[in-house]
Parts: sequence; C-alpha cells; structure tokens
Amino acid sequence: MTVGTVAKRSEFLPFSRPVFGEEEIHEVVDTLRSSWITTGPKTGRFESEFAAYLQAPGALALNSCTAALHTALVTLGIGAGDEVITTPMTFSASVNVIEHVGARPVLVDVEPDTLNIDAGQVEAAITPRTRAILAVHYAGHPVDLDALRALASAHRLALVEDAAHALPARYKGRLIGGGYNAVAFSFYATKNLTTAEGGMLTGDPDFLARARIVSLHGMSRDAWQRYDQGGSWFYEVLLPGFKYNMTDIQAALGLCQLRKLERFQRRRREVVSQYNGAFADEPALELPVTRPEVEHAWHLYVLRLRPGTLTIDRNRFIQELSERNVGTSVHFIPIHVHPYYRDKYGFKPDTFPVAYAEYRRILSLPLHPGLSDGDVGHVIEAVLDVVRSHRV
Ligand SMILES: *Cc1c(COP(=O)(O)O)cnc(C)c1O
Repeated sequence: MTVGTVAKRSEFLPFSRPVFGEEEIHEVVDTLRSSWITTGPKTGRFESEFAAYLQAPGALALNSCTAALHTALVTLGIGAGDEVITTPMTFSASVNVIEHVGARPVLVDVEPDTLNIDAGQVEAAITPRTRAILAVHYAGHPVDLDALRALASAHRLALVEDAAHALPARYKGRLIGGGYNAVAFSFYATKNLTTAEGGMLTGDPDFLARARIVSLHGMSRDAWQRYDQGGSWFYEVLLPGFKYNMTDIQAALGLCQLRKLERFQRRRREVVSQYNGAFADEPALELPVTRPEVEHAWHLYVLRLRPGTLTIDRNRFIQELSERNVGTSVHFIPIHVHPYYRDKYGFKPDTFPVAYAEYRRILSLPLHPGLSDGDVGHVIEAVLDVVRSHRV
C-alpha cells in the first residue's frame, strides 16, 4: 500500500454528516415539553413554510421521500397493468414504489453528461399502458423538464418528480417543486435538509388533500383535527391508506433546517468550486457538469475517472481514499444490476449501457456544509495523491 506524500489525517472524514445546532436541539426539546409530539402544529407550520420557500401551491409532510413517492402513485390511481417510465441511475426506492403499487417500471437509459434520464429515449418507451414518468433529478441537477413535460402532455401521462437531491434547484429560473405536479423531497440524514427521516410531497392542493388521506389510514380527518379542542371524535375510513405521517419532532428539525438552507447551499457551492478548481487540470478526472438553464442543488459531487488514465479501477480508488481517511460513496449501483430487477426483467449490465459504464467510473466525494476548508483541502490532496500514485 502506498500512501504517497499526503499526511494521513488522524481522523476519518465521513462521506456525510448532519449539521445541527442549538436551534434544532431547542426546538426538539420544546416539542417534547409541549405534550404534542406527533403530527400537529409544527408539522403544519413546516408544510406552510416549505411551500412558501418553494413558492409551491401546497405541501404534505410525510415520514420519507419513499412514502411521498408511493403516496403520489397511489393517489394518481396507478396500479396493476400500468407502466411507469423511470431511470436506472437512482436509489432503489424510486423504483421499488412502482413495484409496490403493482405497476411495471420501464427503465430508460441516462444522458452521459448529467446522468439524468435521457428524454430523447423516453418516447420509444411509451406504450398504451404507460401512466407516468417518474423523473429523478440526479445529484441535484434538474432533468430536461421541458422535454419531459411535452411528452407527458402529448401522451396524457403524469409527471412525478423524485427531488430527493434537488432542494433547492432551479430549472429555467423556477424552483423544482414549485408547480402543480407531484414532487417528492427527502429529509433523510444525508440530504441537503434533514429531519433524520422525513419527506415532503408538493403539488396541487386538491391532489395533496387526497394524498393526505391516502397517507394516513385513509381517514377523513387526522388526529390533530380529532383531539384538539373543538375537534370531533368522528372520522370515516375512505380507503385502506398507509401510515406515512410526519411527527412534530421531525418538523421541529425541519423548521430550523429550512431557515439555514440558503447558508448551507452557499457552503456547498464553495466546496464545489474548490473541488472544481483543484481537479479541472487533472486529465485523469472528469468534473460534474452544470447545464446553463439550471441551478444545481449540489446534493452530490460526482467525480468520474477517465478511462485509460489510471492503473487502478474505481473500487481500488475508493479503497485508497479510505486509506487516506476520506469517506466516499457511489451513487448509484444502477437499478438493473440489482438481483431483484435483473432477474425479474432479465436485464443485462449493457441493457442500459450508459448507466452501467458510468457506474463503473463514478465516485461521490464528501459534500456537506459541515466541511471545513481544512477538510476540503485534505480531500483534494488525497484525490490528487491517489491519481499521482497510479497514473498510467
Ligand atoms: C434518498 C433518496 C430517496 C429516498 O428517500 P427517503 O427519504 O430515505 O425515503 C429516493 N430517491 C433518491 C434519488 C434518493 O437519493
């Protein structure tokens, strides 16, 4: 093992960590002292403040992005016999929810630059059974929304967006999640805004009113409306719904994190420009792209290793970074190589050649607002040291 010229950090720098302050601690304790811990006033406030931030017509807080996506598909009435078009370059949850409603996921390969679904290949995947396009804003770079919206309206399909990475991101000046179609956000521990676990569905208020019922047992009113003063004990079950509500303990975190989001994003952009500056002239490395019509949310900084420039592969590269105390990750192992999907649909690695080829040469570097300049400098030195040690 060579650890070149870089002094080993004494502590491992994790790929990600949540950034909480005294505000979050105070707000959670306030909730615990308030006697209302589950979905209540803070969840309501978080929904309104989140919707106001995105200039969205409405927002529904849930306990995960997975729950938000599942709720959206159920509320749209998508089920057995239906098809939903999506990308192989995503977290399994985006595709699992299609299986949950009994529909068939139809994967379309990604664009080589953004690694987002290739809108130019979507039309060929549309059949009479297609009901929706589930688009994922990979790494925080918005998909080609104009092209997907045109396809959706020409073929009468729903457009559902997985915006787990895209808070906040803009497409042609407009914030992702600010429109009337269903858009799902994640507040998982590693995401740009975290409530430990949590999610939000934005969109049309009438759609969200139905989604709210789907997400809470199919009940005609929630507990806050029943147990608060002036509430009524009476409710009716309108459908066999789920148990996906957010708690006020999570919303307490969300309210504080939302106030810090712009500051968090500034720091993310600073880290990205430090990485870009340091890696731009290194022929073995390819930098992430940003198209001119978007504002990137920079959830992930995905570096690519240029083929033929190094004597080691991506897996070894990650191991060498780990030996230099830098934690990294890979986003994502494409859906079609996971055994469940591979075996059920007979996929081969090269069924989606771009996703598979890119998967083999990508790695995600640490990117979060808690990184110090020293941390960023260490990551840069470690990456360049691994490159120098293994150049062809
Ligand atoms: C994190 C993530 C999800 C799932 O979010 P949860 O809140 O953990 O359910 C879905 N899609 C993508 C692309 C993600 O990265």
